[in-house]
Amino acid sequence: MLYTLEYAKQLDQEDILNRFREEFYIKPNSIYMDGNSLGLLSKRAERTLLESLNDWKEHGIDGWTSGNHPWFFLSEKLGEMMAPLVGGSANEVIVTGSTTVNLHQLVATFYKPEGTRTKILADELTFPSDIYALQSQLRIHGFDPETHLIRVKSRDGRFLEEEDIIEAMTDEIALIILPTVLYRSGQILDMKRLTAEANRRGILIGFDGCHSIGAIPHSFTEWGVDFAYWCNYKHLNGGPGSVGGLYVNSKHFGTAPGLAGWFGSKKDKQFDMEHSLTPADSAGAYQIGTPHVLSLAPLLGALEIFAEAGIENIRAKSLNINQYLMDLINQELHDFGFTIGNPCDDIRRGGHVSLEHKEAARICKALKENDVIPDFRAPNIIRLAPVALYTSYTEVWEVVQILKKIMTEKQYEKFKNEREVVA
Ligand SMILES: *Cc1c(COP(=O)(O)O)cnc(C)c1O
Repeated sequence: MLYTLEYAKQLDQEDILNRFREEFYIKPNSIYMDGNSLGLLSKRAERTLLESLNDWKEHGIDGWTSGNHPWFFLSEKLGEMMAPLVGGSANEVIVTGSTTVNLHQLVATFYKPEGTRTKILADELTFPSDIYALQSQLRIHGFDPETHLIRVKSRDGRFLEEEDIIEAMTDEIALIILPTVLYRSGQILDMKRLTAEANRRGILIGFDGCHSIGAIPHSFTEWGVDFAYWCNYKHLNGGPGSVGGLYVNSKHFGTAPGLAGWFGSKKDKQFDMEHSLTPADSAGAYQIGTPHVLSLAPLLGALEIFAEAGIENIRAKSLNINQYLMDLINQELHDFGFTIGNPCDDIRRGGHVSLEHKEAARICKALKENDVIPDFRAPNIIRLAPVALYTSYTEVWEVVQILKKIMTEKQYEKFKNEREVVA
Protein backbone atom coordinates (compact mmCIF):
# COMPACT_ATOMS: atom_id res chain seq x y z
CA MET A 1 0.00 0.00 0.00
CA LEU A 2 2.73 2.46 1.00
CA TYR A 3 4.42 2.18 -2.38
CA THR A 4 1.43 2.50 -4.70
CA LEU A 5 0.36 5.39 -6.89
CA GLU A 6 -2.97 5.46 -5.03
CA TYR A 7 -1.16 6.09 -1.79
CA ALA A 8 0.81 8.96 -3.38
CA LYS A 9 -2.46 10.50 -4.54
CA GLN A 10 -3.90 10.14 -1.08
CA LEU A 11 -0.90 11.96 0.39
CA ASP A 12 -1.47 14.79 -2.07
CA GLN A 13 -5.07 15.08 -1.01
CA GLU A 14 -4.09 15.28 2.63
CA ASP A 15 -1.36 17.86 1.95
CA ILE A 16 -2.36 21.21 3.45
CA LEU A 17 0.12 23.05 1.18
CA ASN A 18 -1.35 21.48 -1.95
CA ARG A 19 -3.13 24.68 -2.96
CA PHE A 20 0.16 26.56 -3.46
CA ARG A 21 1.23 24.29 -6.29
CA GLU A 22 -1.09 25.99 -8.77
CA GLU A 23 0.55 29.32 -8.01
CA PHE A 24 3.74 28.16 -9.73
CA TYR A 25 4.63 27.81 -13.37
CA ILE A 26 5.22 24.10 -13.66
CA LYS A 27 6.08 22.80 -17.10
CA PRO A 28 3.49 20.24 -18.16
CA ASN A 29 4.73 16.66 -18.39
CA SER A 30 7.94 17.54 -16.66
CA ILE A 31 8.97 16.99 -13.05
CA TYR A 32 11.11 19.66 -11.46
CA MET A 33 13.35 18.31 -8.69
CA ASP A 34 15.85 21.17 -8.69
CA GLY A 35 14.15 23.78 -6.51
CA ASN A 36 17.16 23.74 -4.20
CA SER A 37 19.29 25.18 -7.00
CA LEU A 38 16.82 27.49 -8.74
CA GLY A 39 13.29 27.74 -7.40
CA LEU A 40 10.43 28.03 -9.88
CA LEU A 41 8.60 31.20 -10.85
CA SER A 42 5.32 31.86 -9.07
CA LYS A 43 2.54 33.97 -10.47
CA ARG A 44 2.89 36.33 -7.54
CA ALA A 45 6.60 36.84 -8.13
CA GLU A 46 5.86 37.53 -11.78
CA ARG A 47 3.19 40.04 -10.76
CA THR A 48 5.43 42.03 -8.42
CA LEU A 49 8.22 42.08 -11.00
CA LEU A 50 5.82 43.42 -13.64
CA GLU A 51 4.47 45.97 -11.18
CA SER A 52 7.99 47.23 -10.58
CA LEU A 53 8.65 47.44 -14.31
CA ASN A 54 5.43 49.38 -14.60
CA ASP A 55 6.56 51.74 -11.84
CA TRP A 56 9.58 52.52 -13.99
CA LYS A 57 7.37 52.97 -17.05
CA GLU A 58 4.93 55.25 -15.22
CA HIS A 59 7.09 57.13 -12.77
CA GLY A 60 10.65 57.26 -14.11
CA ILE A 61 12.93 58.61 -11.37
CA ASP A 62 10.00 59.06 -9.00
CA GLY A 63 9.71 55.28 -8.77
CA TRP A 64 12.26 55.58 -5.96
CA THR A 65 9.60 57.06 -3.69
CA SER A 66 6.25 56.41 -5.37
CA GLY A 67 4.45 53.73 -7.32
CA ASN A 68 3.54 50.20 -6.23
CA HIS A 69 6.78 49.35 -4.47
CA PRO A 70 8.98 52.43 -3.88
CA TRP A 71 12.50 51.30 -4.72
CA PHE A 72 14.27 53.38 -2.07
CA PHE A 73 12.73 51.28 0.72
CA LEU A 74 12.53 47.93 -1.04
CA SER A 75 15.58 46.29 0.58
CA GLU A 76 14.32 47.22 4.05
CA LYS A 77 10.79 46.14 3.27
CA LEU A 78 11.99 42.77 2.02
CA GLY A 79 14.23 42.44 5.08
CA GLU A 80 11.15 42.86 7.23
CA MET A 81 9.28 40.24 5.20
CA MET A 82 12.21 37.83 5.43
CA ALA A 83 12.93 38.30 9.14
CA PRO A 84 10.49 35.59 10.31
CA LEU A 85 12.25 33.06 8.09
CA VAL A 86 15.55 33.55 9.90
CA GLY A 87 14.29 34.32 13.37
CA GLY A 88 15.47 37.89 13.45
CA SER A 89 13.74 41.20 14.02
CA ALA A 90 12.89 43.35 11.01
CA ASN A 91 15.88 45.66 11.40
CA GLU A 92 18.34 42.74 11.65
CA VAL A 93 17.68 41.60 8.08
CA ILE A 94 18.35 43.36 4.80
CA VAL A 95 17.95 42.11 1.25
CA THR A 96 21.04 43.21 -0.62
CA GLY A 97 24.03 42.04 -2.64
CA SER A 98 24.59 38.36 -3.26
CA THR A 99 25.81 35.49 -1.14
CA THR A 100 29.47 35.93 -1.95
CA VAL A 101 29.38 39.73 -1.85
CA ASN A 102 27.58 39.66 1.50
CA LEU A 103 30.15 37.23 2.87
CA HIS A 104 32.89 39.65 1.79
CA GLN A 105 31.07 42.48 3.48
CA LEU A 106 30.52 40.57 6.72
CA VAL A 107 34.09 39.29 6.92
CA ALA A 108 35.40 42.77 6.10
CA THR A 109 33.24 44.04 8.96
CA PHE A 110 33.62 41.37 11.63
CA TYR A 111 37.00 39.74 11.07
CA LYS A 112 39.26 41.64 13.44
CA PRO A 113 42.46 39.65 13.96
CA GLU A 114 44.08 40.60 17.24
CA GLY A 115 47.06 39.20 19.15
CA THR A 116 47.05 35.42 18.74
CA ARG A 117 43.44 35.35 17.48
CA THR A 118 44.04 35.69 13.77
CA LYS A 119 42.61 32.61 12.08
CA ILE A 120 39.30 31.90 10.38
CA LEU A 121 37.57 28.56 10.91
CA ALA A 122 35.54 26.96 8.12
CA ASP A 123 35.13 23.38 6.90
CA GLU A 124 36.39 21.25 4.05
CA LEU A 125 32.94 20.50 2.63
CA THR A 126 31.75 24.07 2.25
CA PHE A 127 30.78 25.75 -1.00
CA PRO A 128 33.87 26.84 -2.98
CA SER A 129 32.84 30.49 -3.36
CA ASP A 130 32.86 30.89 0.42
CA ILE A 131 36.38 29.49 0.59
CA TYR A 132 37.60 31.78 -2.20
CA ALA A 133 36.14 34.78 -0.38
CA LEU A 134 37.76 33.79 2.92
CA GLN A 135 41.13 33.16 1.28
CA SER A 136 41.08 36.55 -0.39
CA GLN A 137 40.01 38.33 2.82
CA LEU A 138 42.93 36.70 4.65
CA ARG A 139 45.32 37.85 1.93
CA ILE A 140 43.97 41.41 2.18
CA HIS A 141 44.89 41.29 5.87
CA GLY A 142 48.37 40.04 5.01
CA PHE A 143 47.83 36.46 6.17
CA ASP A 144 48.58 33.27 4.30
CA PRO A 145 45.35 31.29 3.75
CA GLU A 146 47.40 28.08 3.94
CA THR A 147 48.08 28.71 7.61
CA HIS A 148 45.18 30.98 8.57
CA LEU A 149 42.15 29.33 7.02
CA ILE A 150 41.40 26.25 9.14
CA ARG A 151 39.07 23.76 7.51
CA VAL A 152 37.42 21.23 9.79
CA LYS A 153 37.72 17.79 8.24
CA SER A 154 34.85 15.48 7.48
CA ARG A 155 35.24 11.92 8.76
CA ASP A 156 33.40 10.36 5.83
CA GLY A 157 33.35 12.96 3.05
CA ARG A 158 29.65 13.63 3.61
CA PHE A 159 29.06 15.03 7.05
CA LEU A 160 30.65 17.22 9.70
CA GLU A 161 30.62 16.34 13.38
CA GLU A 162 29.81 19.20 15.72
CA GLU A 163 32.39 17.84 18.22
CA ASP A 164 35.11 18.20 15.60
CA ILE A 165 34.08 21.80 14.90
CA ILE A 166 33.98 22.66 18.59
CA GLU A 167 37.39 21.09 19.12
CA ALA A 168 38.75 23.37 16.39
CA MET A 169 37.47 26.51 18.19
CA THR A 170 40.87 27.29 19.68
CA ASP A 171 42.16 30.57 21.03
CA GLU A 172 43.75 31.24 17.64
CA ILE A 173 40.35 31.56 15.95
CA ALA A 174 38.90 35.04 15.42
CA LEU A 175 35.93 34.13 13.24
CA ILE A 176 33.89 31.06 12.28
CA ILE A 177 32.01 30.68 8.99
CA LEU A 178 29.88 27.58 8.52
CA PRO A 179 26.99 26.46 6.35
CA THR A 180 23.56 26.01 7.94
CA VAL A 181 22.94 23.06 5.62
CA LEU A 182 25.69 21.38 3.61
CA TYR A 183 25.04 21.82 -0.10
CA ARG A 184 25.86 18.24 -1.09
CA SER A 185 24.75 15.98 1.73
CA GLY A 186 21.96 18.22 3.01
CA GLN A 187 23.21 17.85 6.61
CA ILE A 188 21.95 20.53 9.01
CA LEU A 189 24.56 21.70 11.44
CA ASP A 190 23.44 22.22 15.02
CA MET A 191 23.56 26.00 14.81
CA LYS A 192 22.30 26.53 18.32
CA ARG A 193 25.00 24.40 19.88
CA LEU A 194 27.82 25.70 17.68
CA THR A 195 26.80 29.29 18.33
CA ALA A 196 26.69 28.75 22.10
CA GLU A 197 30.17 27.21 22.01
CA ALA A 198 31.55 30.04 19.85
CA ASN A 199 29.93 32.71 22.04
CA ARG A 200 31.40 31.09 25.15
CA ARG A 201 34.89 31.37 23.68
CA GLY A 202 34.43 34.94 22.47
CA ILE A 203 34.65 33.90 18.81
CA LEU A 204 32.27 35.50 16.31
CA ILE A 205 30.21 33.05 14.25
CA GLY A 206 28.39 33.55 10.95
CA PHE A 207 26.37 31.13 8.82
CA ASP A 208 25.84 30.64 5.10
CA GLY A 209 22.09 29.99 4.87
CA CYS A 210 21.80 29.32 1.11
CA HIS A 211 20.47 25.81 1.54
CA SER A 212 18.25 26.40 4.53
CA ILE A 213 16.49 29.72 3.92
CA GLY A 214 12.91 28.95 2.95
CA ALA A 215 13.33 25.25 3.74
CA ILE A 216 13.82 25.13 7.49
CA PRO A 217 13.06 27.58 10.32
CA HIS A 218 15.91 29.43 12.06
CA SER A 219 16.19 31.28 15.36
CA PHE A 220 19.31 33.34 14.74
CA THR A 221 18.58 35.98 17.36
CA GLU A 222 17.53 33.52 20.04
CA TRP A 223 20.62 31.40 19.38
CA GLY A 224 22.91 34.44 19.49
CA VAL A 225 24.25 34.05 15.94
CA ASP A 226 26.43 37.05 15.07
CA PHE A 227 25.60 37.26 11.38
CA ALA A 228 24.39 35.25 8.39
CA TYR A 229 24.03 35.60 4.63
CA TRP A 230 22.21 33.66 1.92
CA CYS A 231 20.86 33.68 -1.61
CA ASN A 232 17.20 34.00 -2.50
CA TYR A 233 17.05 32.09 -5.76
CA LYS A 234 17.03 28.57 -4.29
CA HIS A 235 14.20 27.55 -1.92
CA LEU A 236 12.89 31.15 -1.83
CA ASN A 237 12.07 31.28 -5.54
CA GLY A 238 13.32 34.84 -6.06
CA GLY A 239 14.50 34.18 -9.63
CA PRO A 240 17.86 33.76 -11.39
CA GLY A 241 20.38 36.21 -9.96
CA SER A 242 17.94 37.30 -7.28
CA VAL A 243 19.36 39.73 -4.72
CA GLY A 244 20.69 37.98 -1.59
CA GLY A 245 20.08 38.54 2.09
CA LEU A 246 22.03 39.20 5.23
CA TYR A 247 21.38 39.12 8.95
CA VAL A 248 23.31 41.04 11.60
CA ASN A 249 22.49 40.53 15.26
CA SER A 250 21.34 43.83 16.81
CA LYS A 251 24.15 43.59 19.39
CA HIS A 252 26.50 44.52 16.53
CA PHE A 253 24.59 47.55 15.28
CA GLY A 254 26.99 50.44 15.15
CA THR A 255 29.93 48.31 13.97
CA ALA A 256 31.24 50.24 10.98
CA PRO A 257 30.76 48.42 7.66
CA GLY A 258 34.02 46.99 6.33
CA LEU A 259 32.94 47.83 2.79
CA ALA A 260 31.13 51.13 3.00
CA GLY A 261 28.82 52.67 0.43
CA TRP A 262 26.13 55.31 0.35
CA PHE A 263 23.22 52.84 0.56
CA GLY A 264 24.46 51.93 4.03
CA SER A 265 23.46 55.43 5.16
CA LYS A 266 20.66 56.30 7.51
CA LYS A 267 17.80 56.70 5.07
CA ASP A 268 17.13 60.35 5.88
CA LYS A 269 20.84 61.28 5.68
CA GLN A 270 21.74 59.57 2.42
CA PHE A 271 20.82 62.48 0.19
CA ASP A 272 22.65 65.05 2.32
CA MET A 273 25.58 63.94 0.16
CA GLU A 274 28.13 64.47 2.91
CA HIS A 275 31.57 62.95 2.64
CA SER A 276 31.34 61.26 6.01
CA LEU A 277 28.99 58.29 6.20
CA THR A 278 26.27 58.17 8.82
CA PRO A 279 25.48 54.43 8.82
CA ALA A 280 21.98 53.14 9.43
CA ASP A 281 21.56 51.71 12.93
CA SER A 282 20.29 48.44 11.49
CA ALA A 283 21.43 45.66 9.16
CA GLY A 284 20.83 48.23 6.44
CA ALA A 285 24.25 49.70 7.27
CA TYR A 286 25.87 46.80 5.42
CA GLN A 287 24.38 47.66 2.05
CA ILE A 288 26.84 49.07 -0.44
CA GLY A 289 25.34 50.65 -3.56
CA THR A 290 22.10 51.08 -5.47
CA PRO A 291 19.95 47.94 -5.17
CA HIS A 292 19.21 45.83 -8.24
CA VAL A 293 15.55 46.68 -8.18
CA LEU A 294 14.40 44.30 -10.90
CA SER A 295 16.12 41.42 -9.11
CA LEU A 296 14.49 42.40 -5.83
CA ALA A 297 10.96 42.79 -7.11
CA PRO A 298 10.01 39.10 -7.59
CA LEU A 299 10.81 38.50 -3.92
CA LEU A 300 7.84 40.62 -2.87
CA GLY A 301 5.48 38.07 -4.37
CA ALA A 302 7.62 35.08 -3.50
CA LEU A 303 7.75 36.02 0.19
CA GLU A 304 4.01 36.59 0.42
CA ILE A 305 3.60 32.90 -0.30
CA PHE A 306 5.98 31.98 2.54
CA ALA A 307 4.08 34.19 4.95
CA GLU A 308 0.81 32.51 4.03
CA ALA A 309 2.10 28.96 3.99
CA GLY A 310 4.13 29.32 7.20
CA ILE A 311 7.71 28.07 7.50
CA GLU A 312 6.72 25.47 10.11
CA ASN A 313 4.22 23.92 7.68
CA ILE A 314 6.80 24.07 4.92
CA ARG A 315 9.34 22.27 7.09
CA ALA A 316 6.80 19.63 8.12
CA LYS A 317 5.90 18.81 4.52
CA SER A 318 9.53 18.97 3.41
CA LEU A 319 10.51 16.39 6.01
CA ASN A 320 7.59 14.20 5.09
CA ILE A 321 8.00 14.29 1.31
CA ASN A 322 11.77 13.80 1.52
CA GLN A 323 11.21 10.82 3.82
CA TYR A 324 8.69 9.49 1.31
CA LEU A 325 11.28 9.82 -1.46
CA MET A 326 13.86 7.95 0.63
CA ASP A 327 11.37 5.20 1.47
CA LEU A 328 10.55 4.71 -2.20
CA ILE A 329 14.25 4.69 -3.12
CA ASN A 330 14.93 2.04 -0.49
CA GLN A 331 11.99 -0.02 -1.67
CA GLU A 332 12.36 0.26 -5.45
CA LEU A 333 16.03 0.93 -6.13
CA HIS A 334 17.94 -1.25 -3.68
CA ASP A 335 19.37 -3.45 -6.43
CA PHE A 336 20.98 -0.69 -8.45
CA GLY A 337 23.97 0.52 -6.44
CA PHE A 338 22.54 3.74 -4.99
CA THR A 339 23.52 5.08 -1.58
CA ILE A 340 21.50 7.66 0.28
CA GLY A 341 24.14 10.21 1.26
CA ASN A 342 22.07 12.57 3.40
CA PRO A 343 21.38 12.19 7.12
CA CYS A 344 18.32 10.08 7.86
CA ASP A 345 17.36 11.73 11.16
CA ASP A 346 14.85 14.55 10.74
CA ILE A 347 16.82 16.81 13.01
CA ARG A 348 19.97 16.61 10.85
CA ARG A 349 18.29 16.62 7.43
CA GLY A 350 17.74 19.66 5.19
CA GLY A 351 15.49 19.99 2.15
CA HIS A 352 16.93 17.57 -0.38
CA VAL A 353 17.91 13.96 -0.88
CA SER A 354 21.51 13.31 -1.86
CA LEU A 355 21.62 10.14 -3.90
CA GLU A 356 25.07 8.75 -4.64
CA HIS A 357 25.92 6.53 -7.61
CA LYS A 358 29.10 6.00 -9.60
CA GLU A 359 27.18 6.69 -12.82
CA ALA A 360 25.48 9.77 -11.35
CA ALA A 361 26.43 12.19 -14.16
CA ARG A 362 24.86 10.10 -16.87
CA ILE A 363 21.92 8.97 -14.79
CA CYS A 364 21.11 12.69 -14.50
CA LYS A 365 21.27 13.01 -18.28
CA ALA A 366 18.90 10.08 -18.65
CA LEU A 367 16.55 11.67 -16.10
CA LYS A 368 16.50 14.86 -18.14
CA GLU A 369 15.73 12.88 -21.27
CA ASN A 370 12.75 11.50 -19.33
CA ASP A 371 11.65 15.06 -18.41
CA VAL A 372 12.80 14.87 -14.82
CA ILE A 373 15.02 17.79 -13.78
CA PRO A 374 17.56 16.70 -11.16
CA ASP A 375 20.77 18.34 -10.07
CA PHE A 376 24.22 16.81 -10.37
CA ARG A 377 27.15 17.50 -8.08
CA ALA A 378 30.48 16.02 -9.10
CA PRO A 379 31.70 13.42 -8.81
CA ASN A 380 28.80 11.14 -7.87
CA ILE A 381 25.78 12.95 -6.41
CA ILE A 382 22.25 13.26 -7.75
CA ARG A 383 20.44 15.86 -5.67
CA LEU A 384 16.67 15.51 -5.69
CA ALA A 385 14.67 18.21 -3.97
CA PRO A 386 10.97 17.71 -3.51
CA VAL A 387 9.94 21.26 -2.62
CA ALA A 388 7.16 21.71 -0.08
CA LEU A 389 5.38 24.50 -1.97
CA TYR A 390 5.11 22.88 -5.37
CA THR A 391 6.23 19.25 -5.54
CA SER A 392 3.51 16.63 -5.27
CA TYR A 393 3.81 13.17 -3.75
CA THR A 394 2.61 11.81 -7.07
CA GLU A 395 5.58 13.42 -8.80
CA VAL A 396 7.96 11.87 -6.29
CA TRP A 397 6.39 8.49 -6.94
CA GLU A 398 6.80 9.01 -10.70
CA VAL A 399 10.43 10.08 -10.36
CA VAL A 400 11.30 6.84 -8.59
CA GLN A 401 9.46 4.78 -11.21
CA ILE A 402 11.36 6.61 -13.96
CA LEU A 403 14.67 6.06 -12.17
CA LYS A 404 13.88 2.39 -11.85
CA LYS A 405 13.16 2.16 -15.56
CA ILE A 406 16.39 4.01 -16.41
CA MET A 407 18.37 1.57 -14.27
CA THR A 408 16.59 -1.57 -15.43
CA GLU A 409 16.99 -0.65 -19.09
CA LYS A 410 20.47 0.85 -18.52
CA GLN A 411 19.29 3.93 -20.41
CA TYR A 412 22.20 5.93 -18.97
CA GLU A 413 24.72 3.92 -20.99
CA LYS A 414 24.13 6.01 -24.10
CA PHE A 415 25.47 9.13 -22.35
CA LYS A 416 28.98 10.07 -21.23
CA ASN A 417 29.52 10.05 -17.48
CA GLU A 418 30.68 13.69 -17.42
CA ARG A 419 29.13 16.83 -16.06
CA GLU A 420 27.73 19.67 -18.21
CA VAL A 421 29.16 23.20 -18.06
CA VAL A 422 26.48 24.14 -15.51
CA ALA A 423 25.77 21.10 -13.38
C1 LIG B 1 24.32 28.72 -4.01
C2 LIG B 1 25.36 28.94 -2.99
C3 LIG B 1 26.24 30.03 -3.07
C4 LIG B 1 26.20 30.93 -4.27
O1 LIG B 1 26.75 32.17 -4.05
P1 LIG B 1 26.39 33.38 -5.03
O2 LIG B 1 27.21 34.49 -4.54
O3 LIG B 1 24.91 33.61 -4.91
O4 LIG B 1 26.74 32.96 -6.42
C5 LIG B 1 27.15 30.21 -2.03
N1 LIG B 1 27.18 29.37 -0.97
C6 LIG B 1 26.36 28.30 -0.90
C7 LIG B 1 26.43 27.37 0.28
C8 LIG B 1 25.44 28.05 -1.90
O5 LIG B 1 24.65 26.99 -1.83
